[in-house]
This record gives sequence, structure tokens and C-alpha cells, in this order.
Amino acid sequence: DALTDPHAAAPAQAAPVDATPIDAPRETRLWRPRRVVVTPAALEQAHGRAMVARAEGLGLAVERLKSNRITATRDADPRQAYREAKATLAIVVAPPTKLKLQPIPPSADWRFDLAEGCPAHCQYCYLAGSLSGPPVTRAYANLDAILGNLDGYLGNGNVTSAQGARAREGTTFEASCYTDPLGIEHLTGSLSAAIRHFGAWDAPVQLRFTTKFAAVAPLLALPHRGRTRVRVSVNARAAARYEGGTASLDARLDALGALARAGYPVGLTIAPIMPVPDWPQAYTDLLRAASRVLEGVHDLDLTVELITHRFTPGSKEVLQGWYPGSDLPMREAERTRKLTKFGSVKYVYPRDLMQAMRETISAAVARELPGARLLYWT
Ligand code: SF4
Repeated sequence: DALTDPHAAAPAQAAPVDATPIDAPRETRLWRPRRVVVTPAALEQAHGRAMVARAEGLGLAVERLKSNRITATRDADPRQAYREAKATLAIVVAPPTKLKLQPIPPSADWRFDLAEGCPAHCQYCYLAGSLSGPPVTRAYANLDAILGNLDGYLGNGNVTSAQGARAREGTTFEASCYTDPLGIEHLTGSLSAAIRHFGAWDAPVQLRFTTKFAAVAPLLALPHRGRTRVRVSVNARAAARYEGGTASLDARLDALGALARAGYPVGLTIAPIMPVPDWPQAYTDLLRAASRVLEGVHDLDLTVELITHRFTPGSKEVLQGWYPGSDLPMREAERTRKLTKFGSVKYVYPRDLMQAMRETISAAVARELPGARLLYWT
């Protein structure tokens, strides 16, 4: 596998449409941070030392910090501060608040974090505006405590999994709310540890994560026992061009096929859905490509989640600072203003367009992937 710095691929302008044919050889890129730091507290943890060893094994120099505070460069130019932060991996101990889990409907009962931050450069990034400070990727060294903490949430406040079709999944834990755990797995090993942890459990339970990366080879032989559902985050090609530093769409779909063949329950997170030119055909093409890679998989357990594009005033401001050349449409006048349940504002597509996309894309899922379970539209 080539080690590439996705930062180098970060588009200031929208990148050209990915036109890789579906049967071409796929690349699997691995993030190579320009700076890796570790705090003294993280070095006291076996997993912190293991991550340092992984980074050094990949030829990366690891700075031993004197303090447990991460001080990212505070450049006045937001693009420059963004660039430096995005090229940094910090190995730290998760703050105690991370051990108090939050419900995360409709995706899962609970969210937990193996890391925070992501090395990719999506011009619509979900994390913009929700993480404070420069977007350094922080990998958590106190993995034993993070995984051990999950026991207390088993069968507890089962908000999502209790819903009909998902009851058999048990208590569900989502690991990709604030990071892409596969995108940093070669540097952390945390995801493999979590998959083993869930596989060893005797209670009805599910680990869930979604990813825009494709280096799944180290996961294929893990004793997952069907307790981890891996979803690949995909989009119509014309929308996937807003993603920099991720694996290509075709590599992600190949990864989906490989995981399904390795017996994992799998899924498609189709997000963020946008009314790109000829969107009905564009999303049908995507579903057909997914169907092709899943052909012949025995006992396929496939779910689909459909998530439309939205933004908040805060995320728009952050994204415009990070990607000033982006042509991603974020015009309030073309959207409906909605209040979230926490009272903050978000901008979604107008009702008629939402309804048309929902009906058309849901019907295309049923037609192209008849064995799939559609979990939700949002
Ligand atoms: Fe943001 Fe997800 Fe893209 Fe990472 S992969 S930059 S978290 S949208």
C-alpha cells in the first residue's frame, strides 16, 4: 500500500469528477501525518506506547511533549492553521467526559469515541463547527478504559435498536461520530481492538462505524462474530468530488464487498445526498455499483442509511474558512431553515425537493438492492 499524505490532495477548488472505471485496480491510501505528538499521560498507557511504536514503525518521528496540553499552531490565516492541524496526529488520553456516553439516534443507541478528528478533507465535513479548535486528529491512548466503560451501557436506554427491524442487533454503539476510525487504523490499531472486544462479548451488542477509507485488509480475519456492522460512506460521483484525501468511491465499494465476504454485516451510508445534475440516475448508478460488488455474497446482511446535505451557520463559516474555493452549494435562500431539537438552526433542502429525493432514492434502493434494509432517511 502506498503511503500518501491526503493533505497533498486537498482541493482548494472542487476536484474533477472521479472517473475510475469500476473494474480498474484500486488504490488504498494510508494517511501519513506530517507531525505526530504524544503526551506524557498517553505514554503511561500501553496502547499509547503501541501507537507510538506503530508510527515509528512507519518511519514517522514522534515528538514527546512535556505537557498534556496540545498546542496547535494558531495561525491567523484559517487555511494555514487548518493545513497544519489536519497534518497532525496527537496521541492523548481521552478526557473523562468521553466516558459519559451520549445517545445518538437514529444511527445507534450510544456514541463512543476511539479518536476525534479525521485526516480527510471533505468540503461539507460533518465535523466542521462541532469540534472546537483546529482540527488536529486526536487518538485516544486509554483504550482499555474506553472499551471497559461500554459494559455499563449494555441494554441500557435502548433507544434505537429497540425499533422493530433492528431489535436483533442488541445495544448499538457508534464509533464514527467524531472521527473516521478506519482512516487512522494503520496508526492506532484501536478499531481492530474494538472489533475483537465486541466479538468476544456474549451479550446482544453491535459496534458500528462508517468510513470513507478502504484499507480493510487488517480487519478481514478478525474474530468479529458478526458483532460489527461496517458501513461505507458513499455518494453519487458528482457529489463524491467534494471529498479530498479519502479512498476513491470504487475503492470504498470494493472494501464493502471484501467485508461482506468476510462475514461482516455491512451497510451503505449514502451521504450527504445532494440534488446533483440528473440525481435520480446518479444515485441509481451508485446503487448499481454497490449491487455489483456484493454479487454472490452468502447471507448478505446489508443496511442503507440515507442522509441529505445540511449545514448550520457555524459549519458554513468554518467550511468557508477551510475551503474558500469550494463550489459546494450552501445558499440559505435555496434551503428551508429548521430548528434542531437543541434549538440551533440548520438549513435543509425544501420540503418538495426532500420528498421527491426521498421517494425516488428509497424506491431505487428497493429496486437495485432488494435484500437491503433501509434504516432511515434524514
Ligand atoms: Fe469530515 Fe468525514 Fe470527510 Fe473526515 S471523512 S473530512 S470526518 S466528512
